[in-house]
Amino acid sequence: MSDSHSASRRRFLAATGGLAASAAAAPVLAQAAAPAGLPPLVGRATQNLLPRGKARRVVICGGGWGGVTAAKYLRQLAPHMEVVLLERNPVFFSCPMSNKWLVDVVDTQFLTHDYLSVSEKYGYRFIQTEILEIERDTKRVVTALGAVDYDYLIVAPGIRYNYEAWFANDRRMAEATRARFPAAYIPSAEHFRLKDSLRDFKGGTLVMTLPPPPQRCPPSPYERACLIASLFKQKKIPGRILILDHKDGLRPIGPGFKAAFEELYKDIITYVPNAHVEEVDPFKKHIKTAAGDFDFDHAILMAPHQAGDLAWKAGLVPAPGQGKPGGWADVDPLFLHARDDKDVYVIGDAVGFVSSHFAYYPKAGHVANRHARIVARYIAAREAGREPNYALPDNLCFMMVNTAPQEGISVQFDYHVNDQGVIEQRQMDFNERSPATIPEDFNWARLIYEDMFT
Ligand SMILES: Cc1cc2nc3c(=O)[nH]c(=O)nc-3n(C[C@H](O)[C@H](O)[C@H](O)COP(=O)(O)OP(=O)(O)OC[C@H]3O[C@@H](n4cnc5c(N)ncnc54)[C@H](O)[C@@H]3O)c2cc1C
Repeated sequence: MSDSHSASRRRFLAATGGLAASAAAAPVLAQAAAPAGLPPLVGRATQNLLPRGKARRVVICGGGWGGVTAAKYLRQLAPHMEVVLLERNPVFFSCPMSNKWLVDVVDTQFLTHDYLSVSEKYGYRFIQTEILEIERDTKRVVTALGAVDYDYLIVAPGIRYNYEAWFANDRRMAEATRARFPAAYIPSAEHFRLKDSLRDFKGGTLVMTLPPPPQRCPPSPYERACLIASLFKQKKIPGRILILDHKDGLRPIGPGFKAAFEELYKDIITYVPNAHVEEVDPFKKHIKTAAGDFDFDHAILMAPHQAGDLAWKAGLVPAPGQGKPGGWADVDPLFLHARDDKDVYVIGDAVGFVSSHFAYYPKAGHVANRHARIVARYIAAREAGREPNYALPDNLCFMMVNTAPQEGISVQFDYHVNDQGVIEQRQMDFNERSPATIPEDFNWARLIYEDMFT
C-alpha cells in the first residue's frame, strides 16, 4: 500500500490548493452586496457570512473526527435544521493510522478525505475558514470570512500543545520546537515535516518526550516508537530511540508494548519512566528531565496537551484554581453541554473531567465519533420537543508494533453509570502480539471512515 512520499505530498498540496479556492468561494455567494473596493467573493471577518433562513441552525466548530460525524448525523436526525461545519483545513487528514503512514505502511490517500463531496451528499454546509472567536453572549462565531450566528453550537476543536508549560510566553522557543521537532499530534504540516525528517535520518539518538495524562491517544506514542524502530531495522539505520515518559510506567497495553520493546527492539528502544520535562532547548538539542539530562540528534517533542484554542476562546475552560482539573472544557458528564449553557456542546478530545472513577474519556477518534453521534441525537430530540435520554460512548484502539511481519495489540473500553450516578469505565487490554489484530485494525478504520465520509 505504500507510495512515493514526494508524489503523495505533491498530490496533497495540489488538493489543498484546489479545495481552498472552491470551498472559500461557496459561502460568500450568499452576500447581497460586495464590501466597497473588494471583489464580491472576498470575505471579511466583520461581515455577516450567512444570512438566516427559516431553519434553526447548528454551527459546528472543527471538522475533525467529532465535527464531521456530528454534521452528517445531525442532517440525518434533524433534517429540517441547517447545519454549518467550519474547519480551517481544506482536506481531512486522519491522525489515527498516521503512524503507519510515517513508515509507508499506508499511503496519503488512505488518510485524507474530501469535505466537499460528503457535505454535498448530506446537505450540510462546509466552510473552509479559520475560526477567530466564539461569542456565546451573542450566539455568534466569528471567522476569517465573516460571522455566523447559531441556535446550537458544537465545539470540536481537538487539542492544543501547551508549550507554555515549557517556555512560558517565549513564542520563539515554542515556534522553533514545533518547526524543528514537531509532535505531529495535530492534523497539519507537522506530519509531513516529521515524515521527511525520518526519511533523512542517518543515525544517532532520536528522543521522544511523552506528554503527561490526559493526552491525545495515550498508546500511540509507543506505537510510533515501535514503527520507527521497525523502519530503522529494515533500513539498517544505526538509530537509538529514547522514550522519555512522564508516567511511571507503560500504559495502556503496558505488557504488550514492553514485550515489543524487549523482544523486537532491544538494541534500539530505551524506555525511561518518570521523565517529567523540566527544560527543553531546541537550538542546543538538549533536554532536562526529572530522570536525567539528554542530548539528541533528532526529536519528537510532545508538549503537554490541552483542549484546543477554541474551547478557551469560548470561555469553556475553567481558570486554574477553581477546583477543577485545568486545561479542558467543563461539561455536563452525561449530556456534554457546557455547564453554564445548554445550547453549547463539546465533543471529542476537548471534553474535560467526566468521572471521579477514571477522570477523562480516552482522547480518541473513536470516542469523538461516538460523542458526535450522541450529541446529534440530543439536539434532534430537543428540537422534536423531547427530553433526551443520556447515552455513553465506547472505545476501541489497535496499535501496530511490528511491520515484518505485521503484528498488533489492542485495547477496548466500555462505560456505564453506577448507582451513585458516576460513570464507570471498564478497560480490557489485549497484550498478546498477533498478526490477527492487523485486519481488525484496517476494518475498524474502513468502517469508521465510511461512517464519516460515505
Ligand atoms: C499518531 C496518532 C494516532 C492515533 N491513533 C488513534 C487510533 O488508533 N484510534 C483512535 O480512536 N484515535 C487515535 N488518535 C486520536 C485521534 O486523532 C483524536 O482523538 C481525534 O482526532 C479527536 O477528534 P476531535 O474531533 O476531538 O479533534 P480533531 O480530529 O483534531 O479535530 C479538530 C478539528 O478542529 C479544527 N480546528 C481547530 N481550531 C480551529 C480554528 N480556529 N478554526 C478552524 N478549524 C479549527 C482542526 O483543524 C481539526 O480539523 C490518534 C492520534 C494520533 C496523533
